[in-house]
Amino acid sequence: THFGFRDVPVGDKQKLVGEVFTSVAGKYDLMNDAMSLGIHRAWKRYFVATAQARKGDRVLDLAGGTGDIAALLKERVGDTGEVVLGDINAAMLRAGRDRMTDRGLVRGLDYVQCNAEALPFPDASFDLVTIAFGLRNVTDKDAALREMLRVLKVGGQARVLEFSQVTAEWFRPIYDFHSFKVLPALGKLFAGDADSYQYLAESIRKHPPQDELKAMMERAGFARCGYKNLSAGIVAVHTGYKA
Ligand code: SAM
Repeated sequence: THFGFRDVPVGDKQKLVGEVFTSVAGKYDLMNDAMSLGIHRAWKRYFVATAQARKGDRVLDLAGGTGDIAALLKERVGDTGEVVLGDINAAMLRAGRDRMTDRGLVRGLDYVQCNAEALPFPDASFDLVTIAFGLRNVTDKDAALREMLRVLKVGGQARVLEFSQVTAEWFRPIYDFHSFKVLPALGKLFAGDADSYQYLAESIRKHPPQDELKAMMERAGFARCGYKNLSAGIVAVHTGYKA
């Protein structure tokens, strides 16, 4: 296509999610900062800084959106490494490529429009596969996890950064108020779209909590699965390896 993305057919089920992100793609970064008071940047930095990556590695960032994770990953893999940013949504992918170019990042980057459930890559093609704030939106999460495992090299690591279950009891009412009152209001204010942010809050509540996601990764075939809570479990970093 004009943008050089490799197009892969995307299922009907994914279209709704696609539309939600198309409606917010432009304001996406601003919204992330507003919703999380900028804390999402610290979560992302931790997620990438503690990932298993070396200079020269070939890494895949799924649901890569506007490229925050991909940009951090590029620093880790260096000039000789390669980062592939995959996203199901062409508008997000375009925003991601523009943002990466603005950051001065051009070489060693590739953009692929793809559904995490059916990856257009051969087996054992990456040293590291990441998905940040993306698994939640995937319809068949088990399929996505199996695909992540398939495209990993033996010894490679998969990492999931996702909203999870808040562990501190006292914090829950505050968090719920933020999710169901503040979020949709911010969505309306910044993006003229409360519905997308209502959807966001609901999708966070429906996402499997820490131990359930860990079990799903084990079932998908990952070895040495574990997780770490950040900010009292607002998000969790899950890790698994291809043995
Ligand atoms: N990883 C980025 C970040 O942390 O800022 C973007 C996260 S954004 C909340 C979720 C992204 O997932 C969107 O760009 C959306 O297009 C993408 N997405 C949703 N479903 C997907 C799927 N099945 N396969 C690949 N990407 C998907």
